[in-house]
Amino acid sequence: MKSSDFYNYIIVGAGTAGLTAAIVAARKGHSVVVLEKGAMAGPKPRGESMAHYPLLDDILGEGYLQSIAEVKPSYRVYHSPGDIKPVGNVDVHTPYYFFEWRTLIDHMVNIAQTLGVTFLFNSEVREPIRESNVCKGVTYQNISGETHTLSGNVVLACDGYASIFGQHYHVDYSKIHCPIVKFLGKDANIDIEKVSSPQFYFIGNGDLVDLAPNFPPAVAYVFPIGGKNIEAGMMLRMTKAFSMKSVTIPTDEEIMEVWGNLKSLYPGFSEFFKGIHPEYEALTVMPNAGMVENFILGEGGAILIGDSAGFVDANGSSGLYFGMKMAEVWVNLLSEMFVENQLEWTLKNRKYLTKQFNKTEVYKTIKTSYKLIGLFEWVIFQKLRTAKRINRFWKVIIWLLKVAS
Ligand SMILES: Cc1cc2nc3c(=O)[nH]c(=O)nc-3n(C[C@H](O)[C@H](O)[C@H](O)COP(=O)(O)OP(=O)(O)OC[C@H]3O[C@@H](n4cnc5c(N)ncnc54)[C@H](O)[C@@H]3O)c2cc1C
Repeated sequence: MKSSDFYNYIIVGAGTAGLTAAIVAARKGHSVVVLEKGAMAGPKPRGESMAHYPLLDDILGEGYLQSIAEVKPSYRVYHSPGDIKPVGNVDVHTPYYFFEWRTLIDHMVNIAQTLGVTFLFNSEVREPIRESNVCKGVTYQNISGETHTLSGNVVLACDGYASIFGQHYHVDYSKIHCPIVKFLGKDANIDIEKVSSPQFYFIGNGDLVDLAPNFPPAVAYVFPIGGKNIEAGMMLRMTKAFSMKSVTIPTDEEIMEVWGNLKSLYPGFSEFFKGIHPEYEALTVMPNAGMVENFILGEGGAILIGDSAGFVDANGSSGLYFGMKMAEVWVNLLSEMFVENQLEWTLKNRKYLTKQFNKTEVYKTIKTSYKLIGLFEWVIFQKLRTAKRINRFWKVIIWLLKVAS
């Protein structure tokens, strides 16, 4: 094991949350290192759409989001099970911009590097270094398999849904995680002039009668990214599924089989896939059934940020922004606590930080979002449950969606 370097901020994971934290901390003059297990930042594409918020101008540069969006921003459109009822356009949100994942991530890395942030790619964090349950640093393995250590004032665990940090501190992710299929394709059967909005298809438990009668409730979606390119996918809605007698939790193979059938057979949805050239297809996980209770781990020194904290909004399509905002808020709070370049993890400081974070707008918004979406899903997927009944009450559902969004 080699000797340890010291940084004010050790950031684990170069996704959008980790990169935001790095930029904000470096702008405040802190020493920052980002450890990323992949060969580049954001090695696997995740979200490709975002609404515009002031934070994005601060982090990315004024008007940057708009400049990389190929299609004009648009509102969501909802389809009832089987695409039977007229679509519902829910325009209560600010509209969404669509962009290429790589463009966004590379831009953020450039900003961070210009600010002097150190990046260590191919560096997989293995565990926290703890003294009296306070995190003092990390051990990581580089591409040659060598183990190194780094120590610092604080570790920001921005390592996503499978957070090694969360696992070390016994976070129960089984109650938070939802499987989601992500698909990117070119030459989709889409006329961008006619369909420029993100399309969402509700699939009730019992909708896939012939195929998978006990499949959990799900939402399939198509995002027109630009030209004939789409991002599409299917997220299983697990909040209520574990307690539903009519649901059997599917294996990964069963999920992919259902996904394959939706692409070729599902009314409305399958139209987009005619003649398509798939570019990327993977089953992954999104933490949108709840968030962790404690963001500060153990007795301090490490904080869960972004997906590692289950901090996506509950309908799953604003995780980029909310993770970024959470990162900014935490770095601002923590930076205030440095005294002579040291951060003391006393009980008083931990209590103060938790109290301050819990008072923030972003924390309250996410908490409320989980409550409202939980209630909405209880109505639609547990009370109404079947495609037949969801279709019968479709107008009410659209109204509820507007309230919950
Ligand atoms: C299919 C899908 C579609 C989505 N669509 C949207 C959307 O359109 N809009 C939106 O706003 N949100 C969307 N989301 C949610 C959004 O992508 C996430 O909320 C967001 O990416 C979370 O950012 P993060 O930085 O917390 O985590 P991540 O982006 O997952 O970043 C974690 C990083 O940590 C690295 N890492 C992991 N473990 C280690 C380790 N041990 N050591 C070092 N590095 C490690 C990973 O390689 C990765 O780079 C989507 C999510 C999915 C899965």
